[in-house]
Amino acid sequence: MKRKETQALIEMVMSSLSHQDNFLGISDPEKRKTICGSAKEIIKTTDKIIKCYIRVSTEKNGIVRIPAYRVQHNNISGYYKGGIRFSEVVTEEEVENLAILMTLKNALHRLPFGGAKGGVHINPRLVSERELNLISKKYVQNFSRDIGPNQDVPAPDLGTNEKVIDWMVGEYKTINPGKPYAGSFTGKSVANGGVKGRRESTGRGVFLSYSWLIDHWAKQYDKNQAIPRTKQWQTLQALRQKTKEGKNIRVAIQGFGNVGSVSAQEAVQYDKNKYTVVAVGDHAVTLYHPDGLDIEALITFTNQSGGDLPTNAAELKQAGIKATLLPATAVLTADCDILVLAAIEGQVHKENMDQVQASVLVEGANAPISTEADNYLEAKGAVIIPDILANAGGVIVSYLEWKQTLAVHNFTEEEIIAAMSKQMITTFQNVYDSYFLSNEYSMRYTCYLLSLERLTTLLYRHGKLF
Ligand code: NAD
Repeated sequence: MKRKETQALIEMVMSSLSHQDNFLGISDPEKRKTICGSAKEIIKTTDKIIKCYIRVSTEKNGIVRIPAYRVQHNNISGYYKGGIRFSEVVTEEEVENLAILMTLKNALHRLPFGGAKGGVHINPRLVSERELNLISKKYVQNFSRDIGPNQDVPAPDLGTNEKVIDWMVGEYKTINPGKPYAGSFTGKSVANGGVKGRRESTGRGVFLSYSWLIDHWAKQYDKNQAIPRTKQWQTLQALRQKTKEGKNIRVAIQGFGNVGSVSAQEAVQYDKNKYTVVAVGDHAVTLYHPDGLDIEALITFTNQSGGDLPTNAAELKQAGIKATLLPATAVLTADCDILVLAAIEGQVHKENMDQVQASVLVEGANAPISTEADNYLEAKGAVIIPDILANAGGVIVSYLEWKQTLAVHNFTEEEIIAAMSKQMITTFQNVYDSYFLSNEYSMRYTCYLLSLERLTTLLYRHGKLF
């Protein structure tokens, strides 16, 4: 979904909230319409878009100018919060869309954060370690007045990791001597004040979003034939039936970085007789094997290759992996039950939506499915678990990391996993109940509705809506 599509959905949901009897305790329909119209204008638009050019002296090309962004969408729920991505295709519009999604995600999961996002227009694979360090530090120098533990708290995202975040924290501390700095970023290394399990948290939550739906939520209603969301209910039942017959549920995963590789690991470690990862793909290749791929061997390989999957027979042999090599996009249309999208935006769209074979699609990445594809697949009976629901594990654990900087308590990894799972399951229960037990809105619409109810209530209580 692009920014315009996100904004269009916000508009639709706000319009339906204005028709909800007694919403915000307002019985007068005209007044409710005015109040919801004001909330819509605030949430559709962005508080602040900051753009700068980072100038870095490179080994090969002399001084280069790199566009960089920090977009602060809304902070009615709390301090701005959102990752920084390093990508050669990042644009201002994309960063703004991602910032809006952060506001909605934090509100949906009841986190005390607003929404923001950052972006730097570089391909991190094509710069040296020294250049990456300089770019990271300059990002902080340029946005130092806008970020901070009680203002805007960035984290890693696509193309960034705990090493980059540790450098950024170091630079923030240098620029702000004597000021609190530990909570200025989340996703730090554990050695630098991060929490155990932050790196794995998004992938873990992505796996939980569909495994909990199939293995726990659907189980509650196993014998109930009267679930109003008929087609999607049949989809879940077919998957549960597979498990009952001792057949594995086949998972394909696009993206084998932080989110994709951890969600693959979670699937195969959960129960070997339940989930099998039959395909994984990255920017260069898809690996497919109908009996399942050796995920641990792939992780060992990518740890040594700098993140890339094997792309030829020699590398497959070196990694000890049996797989067929296919084009990068083949993972999207692979023969599977569940498709986890854990790479980038705009992957399932008008041109390929009719070739998708999965009956459950999970948005580990932000905005990987277009509105048209969402509607088409939903009408066919697919269950689509949207980004703001599925990939919140990272920001939930980021909240715990940020909170840890305010207290003298270091969370154990078990505490982190338990707190994250509890928070996500509470939201899953709300969303899955609303979605499956009525037949009114798509799951994405349902998530937006719950989220916008929360944001509008806060705006109203804060006296911002007239
Ligand atoms: P990452 O950089 O660790 O991995 C990205 C993966 O996507 C790599 O395997 C890369 O090869 C692949 N990829 C990149 N471009 C591709 C393309 N055109 N086609 C196919 N594959 C491509 O990033 P990550 O942290 O795993 O994040 C993945 C997605 O999840 C992003 O969209 C990010 O915004 C989202 N997300 C991440 C987090 C987090 O905590 N890291 C939290 C929420 C959402």
